[in-house]
Amino acid sequence: MDITVFSPGIYTYGAMLIGGVLRDAGHTVTLTRTPAVPAGSLLVASLFSTQHLLDPAVRNLVRTHRERGGKVYVGGPVSAVPEIVLGELGPDAVVVGEGEETIVRLVSEGVSPTLPGIAYLDGDRPFVTPPAPPAPIDRSLPLIPEDIGSQSVRGASAYIETHRGCIGGCTFCQVPRFFGREVRSRDLASILTEVRAFRAAGATRLSVSGGTGSLYGSRDGEMDPEAFIALLRGMAEVMGPRNVSSPDIRVDCITDEILDAIRAYTIGWVFFGIESGSDRVLRLMGKGAKVRQVEEAVERCREHGLRVAGSFIVGYPGETGRDYEATKDLIAALCLDDVFVSSAEPIPGTPLADLAVKTPRDQNPAFVPHTGEYRTLGLTESEARCFDMMMHADIFRPQIRLVTDEVYATYLAEARKQGQDIRAATELILRYGRART
Ligand code: SF4
Repeated sequence: MDITVFSPGIYTYGAMLIGGVLRDAGHTVTLTRTPAVPAGSLLVASLFSTQHLLDPAVRNLVRTHRERGGKVYVGGPVSAVPEIVLGELGPDAVVVGEGEETIVRLVSEGVSPTLPGIAYLDGDRPFVTPPAPPAPIDRSLPLIPEDIGSQSVRGASAYIETHRGCIGGCTFCQVPRFFGREVRSRDLASILTEVRAFRAAGATRLSVSGGTGSLYGSRDGEMDPEAFIALLRGMAEVMGPRNVSSPDIRVDCITDEILDAIRAYTIGWVFFGIESGSDRVLRLMGKGAKVRQVEEAVERCREHGLRVAGSFIVGYPGETGRDYEATKDLIAALCLDDVFVSSAEPIPGTPLADLAVKTPRDQNPAFVPHTGEYRTLGLTESEARCFDMMMHADIFRPQIRLVTDEVYATYLAEARKQGQDIRAATELILRYGRART
């Protein structure tokens, strides 16, 4: 069968994986980042953001393809709440959860109430079949597009999936809900075969994906630093250490050996999801770490000669002005090499989505009008904090970045865009009356 796998904007690892699985099942598969599909091709849309469900280009693609008689299946992280996908896009079916085995059966057998792991409309009512078991962690090569070398996502051509699941329970994150809290790691030889294939296809830098990198090889909640070090060493032997990154890591999942390996076998950066400088907010977020641990982890990385980036979330429901100031103080004290700021986004199926739905609008920073320093800009409280934090972070870098008029306008537009997206996601969740599967 002729199949087009559509991954909006970027070739995600998940889309490449589904492409590879379908190719190995004997189909002719094309992977595309643009919303176009030839008539007669079966469309598999791999969607990773709630915003894709609201994107006119994606909606139009699904609608017109079905009007031409084509079939459309949707999978990926948006499948966490399949009723929303069915209601917004109206595909023939949604592949729910880990879809590698389900999609192959769906393509060959068609929609059926006896096929586990799918959802579809029965008349105008959503019908969700029982969940499929987690897919096997080892599998054949992904479908690697010829132009993979042209892609740069935070500097990497692709994020290789080395393991699934995360021991964490952060309320805003989908990883433990989608893949579970038990870590399942791939065989090292299989990962390295894949790394060689990416390199042969022109990938210039590869990164370790999977929530928090150093959990690779862990069992029963116990880390296995040797497994993670062997992974980095193996990737560096293929790609060269300047072409490997291992960015995302928990502050409580580092050891001296791990940091030495990151220094030796990667570009030498660590990326911590710090989120807040308030222990109270970190508790609300279920982060499982305290500000003191963040400070110690950053210092330890520096002792190992690493550069450290951190991400922060503002406008979490319940975040007070005092909590926000504590986060600004932490950014000033840490003097990070790079900082990423985002407003708290409720992803359907996460506890944060539940919280956003339960929080009255006049108490939700995503909706409350800002009345402070930036009141003339017409921002909400979370937009104002996001904008303010981005400018604040620039002052406290090792090399100060000047906030020019252009930078100011860029940050303001970004804060506004995030605010709009978050309100749209919240409205969507409210419309469907539930946030969790
Ligand atoms: S540690 Fe990272 S991957 Fe794990 S739940 Fe928290 S945010 Fe998600």
